[in-house]
Amino acid sequence: MTKEKKRFIAGAICPRCKAFDRIVMYRVGETDYRECVECGFRDEMHFRSGVREVQTRVNTPREQVLSETQVVRLLEPDGDDDPGQKG
Ligand SMILES: [Zn+2]
Repeated sequence: MTKEKKRFIAGAICPRCKAFDRIVMYRVGETDYRECVECGFRDEMHFRSGVREVQTRVNTPREQVLSETQVVRLLEPDGDDDPGQKG
């Protein structure tokens, strides 16, 4: 017998038999599963992979902003604000 810590999910409804408060969740390795104790329905949960996607999206536009900033600075006329020009 495997040692799995199963916890009931409050307010969860089984997608198969529609049983209320009969869904338990447990972890095997690095994957979370939910299981219905009424009909034996089992499903894999993908919460963690979704979070990682969001973090990746945030990093991408950052580089674009940096490159855009450099372009804007080149277009800015320097002279009034910065008398010491580099030749
Ligand atoms: Zn069920």
